[in-house]
Amino acid sequence: MGEEFEIEANIAGEPLLHRRLTWRCRLTRVSDIVFPPVCLSCRRGLDRHDAICPVCWARIDFIRPPLCDRLGLPMPYDTGGKMISALAVAEPPSYGRARAVGHYTGVLRELIHDFKFSDAHAARKLLSRLMAEAGRELLADADIIVPVPLSRQRLISRRFNQSALLAQDLSRSSALTYEPLALVRTRATPRQVGLTRRERKLNVRGAFAVPQAQATRVAGRRVLMVDDVITTGATCDAAARALLRGGAASVDVLALALVTDYAAVAA
Ligand SMILES: [Zn+2]
Repeated sequence: MGEEFEIEANIAGEPLLHRRLTWRCRLTRVSDIVFPPVCLSCRRGLDRHDAICPVCWARIDFIRPPLCDRLGLPMPYDTGGKMISALAVAEPPSYGRARAVGHYTGVLRELIHDFKFSDAHAARKLLSRLMAEAGRELLADADIIVPVPLSRQRLISRRFNQSALLAQDLSRSSALTYEPLALVRTRATPRQVGLTRRERKLNVRGAFAVPQAQATRVAGRRVLMVDDVITTGATCDAAARALLRGGAASVDVLALALVTDYAAVAA
């Protein structure tokens, strides 16, 4: 009796499974008709979603080695070993290493801007994929992922923290623990835009902390901090300082973009 029942269940199960798959295929086809895949930047038709066309891809100014090991800035030539830029020697950051997908220009800047200021998160998948690639080394050396927090006011006006969304995606693809509450802003800071390097540093000094209740989640951990754009590094420096004060074993920073001429921002 038992055997017959099993066979019946299999026979009954297969058409069900088949029907479900067929429906999924149909739904994908229907959504492709309603929302045909287009380039996330220029809207030209593509054969898949969450991608950009070759023309726009070529307009992303990727940051590739050789790099300054500390700041992630591109270096003019490769000496074969670890290289440290003059800027990192003059002003060593509190974090260990920073890496970013590309320069904050062209298509990458547009994609980040769209993601930051609109509710359309179309670029999210692509950006987090690019970030996972740029931060492969850092991800391999980390225990937890922590996003750079927004102030409460900014979170209310933007409705989401894009660094937190990217950190979430990275934690999913890397299986590292996502700790969104490990770091908080202790005070609101005026916007950094238009400030000099020195003013930026003063503006964010002491603006972050590890809450007491989160201390055990940070102590002894190698932290990978996620930010959207690194301009002078002042925000990341203050945030990393807070994590280290909170007992983190090390802090690296992974960002979408780097303002690589920030050395030019008036001192
Ligand atoms: Zn395009």
